Amino acid sequence: MKASKQRILLLGPPASGKGTQADHLSRAFGIPHVSTGALLRSECARGTPLGLEADSWTSRGLLVPDELAVRVITAWMAGNGPRFLFDGFPRTTVQAEHLDKALDAANTPIELVIFLDLSESEIHRRILDRLTCAACGTTFGGSLHGMKIGDACPSCGGDLIRRNDDTEEALSERLRVYRESTLPVVTYYRKKNPSIFHRVDAGEGSDEIFQKLSALVSADKG
Ligand code: ADP
Repeated sequence: MKASKQRILLLGPPASGKGTQADHLSRAFGIPHVSTGALLRSECARGTPLGLEADSWTSRGLLVPDELAVRVITAWMAGNGPRFLFDGFPRTTVQAEHLDKALDAANTPIELVIFLDLSESEIHRRILDRLTCAACGTTFGGSLHGMKIGDACPSCGGDLIRRNDDTEEALSERLRVYRESTLPVVTYYRKKNPSIFHRVDAGEGSDEIFQKLSALVSADKG
């Protein structure tokens, strides 16, 4: 498929399907998908100082400091072209201002902002049922797929685990942080770039959402 939009942000609460949709869009349109959460988890798995510092925040359901998030995304941008699908960045208005400044300086502005909106009850249901492959990062609804911790990932054979922040305690903290820090980012882009901002109901089926997002990525306008 041909993408009209080359620089895209996917915003939304935990379990809104940002990662899954970003993956599908990335494959369909050939735009690199970048998740700051995944970048931080990979640093942590390799035991780097940055990864270990990040883990001390993420395991408690807290955001890593802005400086750290900006550092990992800047490193990614330096090694890649001006095309991206960001999932999980920016997560605070400070990060959004950093990103806008860097993109303005390079004359490569954001072209599409998608807000995947989901109710808190559905967020709880999905997160506490979610299993993640420790090797490839693919996520599965445990009850939907009849899977449990320790099963083999159907995609790559890796171990299915419960992420250390997919617990009741960390989730209530993540939701508080989401309301306080990330919802303002949604308002920031809705006000700043209303013509490229789109809200999509993340409670619908994954295929329907993908059709909607694909139409937005291919559309010549907005
Ligand atoms: P989810 O969307 O399910 O919360 P992510 O993989 O996007 O999962 O993020 C996992 C964790 O990584 C977050 O809870 C947070 O601690 C950290 N993180 C990811 N992106 C950022 C960011 N842009 N700024 C600060 N912390 C981040």
